[in-house]
Amino acid sequence: IPSKLPQVGTTVFTTMSALASQYHAINLGQGFPDFPMNGKLVELVTDAMRHNYNQYAPMPGWMPLREVLCEKFESLYGATIHPDSEITITPGGTYALYTALTTILEPGDEVIVLEPAYDSYVPNIIVNGGVPVLVSLNDDFSIPWDRVGAAVSDRTKAIMINSPNNPTGSILSADDIEALRQLIRRQPMFIVSDEVYEHLVFDGKAHHSLLRYPDLMENAFVCFSFGKVYHCTGWKLGYCVAPKALTAAFRKIHQYNCFSCHTPSQVALAGFLKDKDQYLSLGAFFQEKRDFFFKGMEATRFVLKPSFGSYFACATYNRITDLPDAQFAGVLVKDHGVATIPVSAFYQDPSGHHLLRFCFGKKQETLEKAIEKLTRL
Ligand code: PMP
Ligand code: GLN
Repeated sequence: IPSKLPQVGTTVFTTMSALASQYHAINLGQGFPDFPMNGKLVELVTDAMRHNYNQYAPMPGWMPLREVLCEKFESLYGATIHPDSEITITPGGTYALYTALTTILEPGDEVIVLEPAYDSYVPNIIVNGGVPVLVSLNDDFSIPWDRVGAAVSDRTKAIMINSPNNPTGSILSADDIEALRQLIRRQPMFIVSDEVYEHLVFDGKAHHSLLRYPDLMENAFVCFSFGKVYHCTGWKLGYCVAPKALTAAFRKIHQYNCFSCHTPSQVALAGFLKDKDQYLSLGAFFQEKRDFFFKGMEATRFVLKPSFGSYFACATYNRITDLPDAQFAGVLVKDHGVATIPVSAFYQDPSGHHLLRFCFGKKQETLEKAIEKLTRL
């Protein structure tokens, strides 16, 4: 059977969520909230369907949604983005990333990927004929810019960045942005920036969206997800911001792939996002969950690494066992009733890793029950 991804099996999220339901475990693995999305959004989407917004949306997306997003970019990041030519609504963030890579990659092009990396990046690069060039993050999850520089070759076409980061919970700093700028000055390349957790940033820190930096935006695709921030991962809706010429090239692919996205959700989100509080309140909302989870985990023998953004935190567990993380995650879900994600799933070489990712974007009672089980280990 022909396959462009002969090495690839089923994603860790599918596997772990299946195990979680098979063993009736608490699912702190796959990143999705277990609480309902905002009731107003439910009303708005229902109204949109009732008012017959049920036919194809325009190919680049519902214009009022693109407009309200551009207002947000202006007010949060001081970025002037043209709704007609620089933003495209997509069926999810993953699709936006994939389409950006499809737009730019030619066979043999190298793409720098920082590991641990969200699991779709490398397969997406390979399917598009590209070659992933892997650079490991430092132990504290900071970016080793000297090693990134050393990984650049005359075939380097792009670098992928992700902030807030899945799985590490780290965020880009102003110094990282400066280092990225220096890298790109030395050798121009595209930047594919995964910012699906843009509003989930804690402790009063700023999200260094690429949208803030017009010079970096000249060659960038910035990808977002409504699902991750508005508690509706099942809507599979996101968007990609890129300069006019790149957006035109992106849409050439998009128009023959899914063409356009689910209309009622776009109409609903356009109305919902007029209220800025809907996104301005998200950082505090998830920070409370992070703080609750971190406090509770102090009673266990897991040691959490700091999380400054996203709804993930990684933990070491050497006071409990020496098992590699994939094996330990199996034991945890089957024998102790808690599903997690082994961080080895975010590396091309899965051996030798001892780190588990927990999703704290869950109801307080879910976190409490999980912590209670983890305390027994
Ligand atoms: N990038 C990262 C880092 C993610 O965690 C996710 C979550 N699934 C995505 C992209 C994709 O988001 P979506 O569900 O909108 O495709
Ligand atoms: N982004 C989510 C996570 O990291 C899951 C998305 C998926 O299941 N593909 O858990």
